This record gives sequence, C-alpha cells and structure tokens, in this order.
Amino acid sequence: MSEKIYVFGHKNPDTDSICSSMVMEKFDKNLGLDVEAKRLGNVNKETQFVLDYLGLEAPDLLQKVEEEQRVVLVDHNEFDQSVEGIENAVIENVVDHHRIANFQTKTPLYYRAEPVGCTATILYKKFKEENMTIDKKEAILMLSAIISDTLLLKSPTTTDDDRKALEELAKIAEIDVNTYGIEMLKAGTNLDDFTEEELINLDAKRSEKDGKKFVIAQVNTVSIPDVLKRKENIERAIEKEIENNDLQLFIFAITDILNSNTQIIALGKETQVAEKGFEKALEDNMMFLEGVVSRKKQILPVIDKNM
Ligand code: MG
Ligand code: MG
Ligand code: MG
Repeated sequence: MSEKIYVFGHKNPDTDSICSSMVMEKFDKNLGLDVEAKRLGNVNKETQFVLDYLGLEAPDLLQKVEEEQRVVLVDHNEFDQSVEGIENAVIENVVDHHRIANFQTKTPLYYRAEPVGCTATILYKKFKEENMTIDKKEAILMLSAIISDTLLLKSPTTTDDDRKALEELAKIAEIDVNTYGIEMLKAGTNLDDFTEEELINLDAKRSEKDGKKFVIAQVNTVSIPDVLKRKENIERAIEKEIENNDLQLFIFAITDILNSNTQIIALGKETQVAEKGFEKALEDNMMFLEGVVSRKKQILPVIDKNM
C-alpha cells in the first residue's frame, strides 16, 4: 500500500472541488496524515481568480491512480466523476454534499455526507469540531467555494449551515463577501476564448440511468444571449459528443448568475425526458427555465426521474 494519500474533487473541477481538496489537505495534515491535494482537470477561470487572489498554485494534475492507492474524495463520490482507476483504489474518506450513487468500496471508510450547499461548509464544521484554527488563507478558500456552489447564497441548494459558515469565514478573512463574490463569479463567466468543444465540457457531469447515459453540462454567464450567439457551433459540438460517447441525452445549461435563470439546450434521442420533466416544449432545441440555477437540485433530479 502506498504511503501518501491523495485528496481530490471531481473531474472538470469547480471551485469547491479545488478549494476543498486544498483545505482537506490542511485538515488531514493537522491530524498528522501524509496527504496531498490533487486535481482531476484544468482549473477554471473562477477558481484561478481565487488562487491568484491568494497567490497560490493549483494542486498537481492526477491522471489516474494505481491499484491500492489511498485516496480521499471531496465534493463527489460517483465513480463516473472520479479518477481513472478509482475502482481499485483504497477510498479512506469521503466528504461530500451530493447524492450517493455508483459508489462502493472494498474496505470500511469514513464517510461524511450532508445535504448542504457546499463541501467547504462541511469542512468548516470539521475544523470547528476539532477545534482547529482556520487561518485567513483557508477561510478564503472555503468562502470562495461556498460563494461558487451557492451562487452567493442565491441557489436553492443553500442551507442555514452555508449562510452561517460564510458569515463566520468572512469575519476570519476580513473580506466583503458581496464585492469579492461578484468579482469572483464574474471571473468565471468569460467564455470567449473557449472552443465549443471546451465549452460543453467545462463543467459537464455524466450520469447513467438503467444503462442510459446522459450528460448535464453547465456554464455560468452574465448574458445568455451572448452565449447563444454560438448556438449553432455549440450544437454541433454536442452532437459529436453524443455520437462519440453513445449518449441518450445531452443537456447544456446556460445559467444567468445575476438574474438566476437558465436556458437549456437539449439534444439526443431522449430529449422528451426534458420536456416531460419540465412540462415545457423544446423550441429550436431550447427551453427557458425561470428561477432554475442548480443542476443538482433543479435539473438532475428532474432528468433522472423521467429518464
Ligand atoms: Mg462540485
Ligand atoms: Mg460542491
Ligand atoms: Mg458546481
């Protein structure tokens, strides 16, 4: 069994996955463990804003894990969303705020799951429970993750625990959460220099239901029409993705983070799943979802139920 324990979030890492890996590394180091934060993909612009703000380097990229590699998962549990080789790794600990699915282990483990808005909120609690000091750097990593996952507490996934954690962390960080938060979220919405292939994979989550594979990808923007200027090319990229990966459905969710709405583009053989689920017809492969911002709470369950 290898010595070092790797801690990482999901593929297509978001701010929670990167920041929580880094904070979890610190937490486990405080406990005397030999851990190293890793990442399973490129750092997005929003997360880069946080790292630049703190003058920190991103964790190293992890392509796959060897058999018996000891790992800690944060911000995910589904093997589809995890590292290559996860089936034969030794999962020692999971800290997550998602449904539990496509997950099993050969050995007993620690598992902390809470239906809160962000992994970092759980980590904040873990630090408090252990009476560990949270320094300014960790506070900013955690509050950035909370702002990202809850869209500045506006997402319906937000809980009182997230609000409390954010408030406490802001005090430690001595930061104005709204000013910092808007700046951070906006940094993540500049999509101009991505190709359409990159765009649809920036934050794509794969799932499977009864052998039917589907993907729900999401991008944040401050202008939906701006993204839709590229609709034709985006659709072409999605069609290719569907063909290459044998997908039944691909949903591309364009979320307006200022007005809290989402425009979806749905393609594939099973687009009627979206129509049935949201009780709305697709027009030109599109559907506008008022008040929808959360993939986890407002899109995935609807698709999963009707698939
Ligand atoms: Mg995440
Ligand atoms: Mg998260
Ligand atoms: Mg997210």
